[in-house]
Amino acid sequence: MGLKKCNRCGQVFASNHKDICPDCEDEIEENFKKVRDYIYDNGQASIPQIHEETGVSIKEIKQFIREGRLVEYDIDVSVECKKCGKKIKSGNYCSECTEELSKGLSSKEEESKKDIKTTKTGKMHTRRDRRKK
Ligand SMILES: [Zn+2]
Ligand SMILES: [Zn+2]
Repeated sequence: MGLKKCNRCGQVFASNHKDICPDCEDEIEENFKKVRDYIYDNGQASIPQIHEETGVSIKEIKQFIREGRLVEYDIDVSVECKKCGKKIKSGNYCSECTEELSKGLSSKEEESKKDIKTTKTGKMHTRRDRRKK
């Protein structure tokens, strides 16, 4: 068990693997309950509205949304896709960007393969070398 500085309040605490101290964890749970109860009682509410009424920071409310904790409540709050800014109900990216990101990764792989092919020095060698692997 090592000592860690809490990501949220800066307090030093004993931690195995967490970045947030037990006090903050409790507080976050409390905050989540406040947000959830507010939504439960009021239905459709905007993030700033929830923030005003519950005192929970907008950042934290958005965090709950990204973590998918509020998905089960049928409310019209959303966060922005980190790539295109489209409204999403949970997570960091919209489905299109998620797809594009995974495509982007594989197309990069394709490119590096192309690089191997286009280096013409000793074409036969490279082929044989690659076959060895
Ligand atoms: Zn803390
Ligand atoms: Zn997007």
